[in-house]
Amino acid sequence: MIYFDYAATTPVDPRVLDAMLPYFSEMFGNPSSVHRYGQRAEAAVDSARETVASVLNCRPDEIFFTSCGSESDNLALRGAGLAMREKTGANWLLTSRAEHHAVSKTAEQLEKHYGFQVEWLDVDESGMVYPEMVEKAICHDTAIVSVMYANNEIGTINPIREIAEICHEHGVLFHTDAVQAAAYLPVDVQSLGVDMLSLGAHKFYGPKGVGALYIRQGTPLVPSQTGGGQEFGLRAGTQNVPFIVGFAEAFRLTNEERVERTAHVKPPRDRIVGTILEEIPNSRLTGHPTDRLPNHCSFAFEGVDGNLLLTLLDAAGFACSSGSACKTGNPEPSDVLTSLGLPREWARGSLRVTLGVGTTLADVNAFLKTLPPLVEQARRLATDKHR
Ligand SMILES: *Cc1c(COP(=O)(O)O)cnc(C)c1O
Repeated sequence: MIYFDYAATTPVDPRVLDAMLPYFSEMFGNPSSVHRYGQRAEAAVDSARETVASVLNCRPDEIFFTSCGSESDNLALRGAGLAMREKTGANWLLTSRAEHHAVSKTAEQLEKHYGFQVEWLDVDESGMVYPEMVEKAICHDTAIVSVMYANNEIGTINPIREIAEICHEHGVLFHTDAVQAAAYLPVDVQSLGVDMLSLGAHKFYGPKGVGALYIRQGTPLVPSQTGGGQEFGLRAGTQNVPFIVGFAEAFRLTNEERVERTAHVKPPRDRIVGTILEEIPNSRLTGHPTDRLPNHCSFAFEGVDGNLLLTLLDAAGFACSSGSACKTGNPEPSDVLTSLGLPREWARGSLRVTLGVGTTLADVNAFLKTLPPLVEQARRLATDKHR
């Protein structure tokens, strides 16, 4: 089996696992305890926080550990949305049509149950949000703007720094979901200019079930999980010490090895794109042709059932994705693909291929040999069904 789904999740780096293991056994203390067991656990969490802060170029007390990328997005939108409304009365949320559900469903809930109004920013045909669109939509009633750094389904990278500048000119908070971006893109929060930034460890060779939210000092925020005073009172619950240690080690390594990892995945990714567009008729790249994550390619094939293609690929030994969370049985294109304005006959036939540290040239060659006949087969089966 060959794995081409690194955007869905990555295996834990063995060095990360090694760093985590002692905190399951001899150093099992609760970081809030006064005794030495607690002190050692607390020191591990403090040190992890410092590591993450140094990669993000911020202060350690601006880092809040959470249970996942989704929770970070939830905390940012709900927490800052509520606090901003309390402070200024603003109750509009501005976000794009191509966000991950962790942002878009949170925005929808804030509209339905909390009385906020959501304004959805259109994206262009590559899924990109333009700063001018934000400039046009933002107003004194906007509480918070949330635009993702890089798109998980189509790989497109947004001009975060420019969008952040516009938000600040208007005194509006800006959050970015960097969960997918952090594996490859620079995440210096000062040069990005963001107020909040979400991360999740399992997208960069850390464990699943741990995330972080950067919150710029002075940003108003209502906690969404109440209880003990952990995480500076903004996220109650005994810290998951081994996973926080794993998060920090994975993030440190990602930052240290960013250039090598990019050099490892980009040339084979470019080859996949070139070969597929050349050899498979009625195929196109989805997302931006150049401003995209270096390990990411995504396609649409006309007249193909994307789920069927995934099943055929799986049977042939390749783990890919349709680029959406949609499961077999739901043939509808994802919200992101719909937002690109692709015709339905194309959007249903989506395929996402994402590379990582384990990808070899042989894997790519085998894939490029296998895919074209499988797309043909999927097309034939779709036509047979309609007869
Ligand atoms: C994976 C992902 C999330 C969700 O992160 P989890 O840690 O799986 O909850 C959110 N946003 C983007 C862009 C992602 O790729």
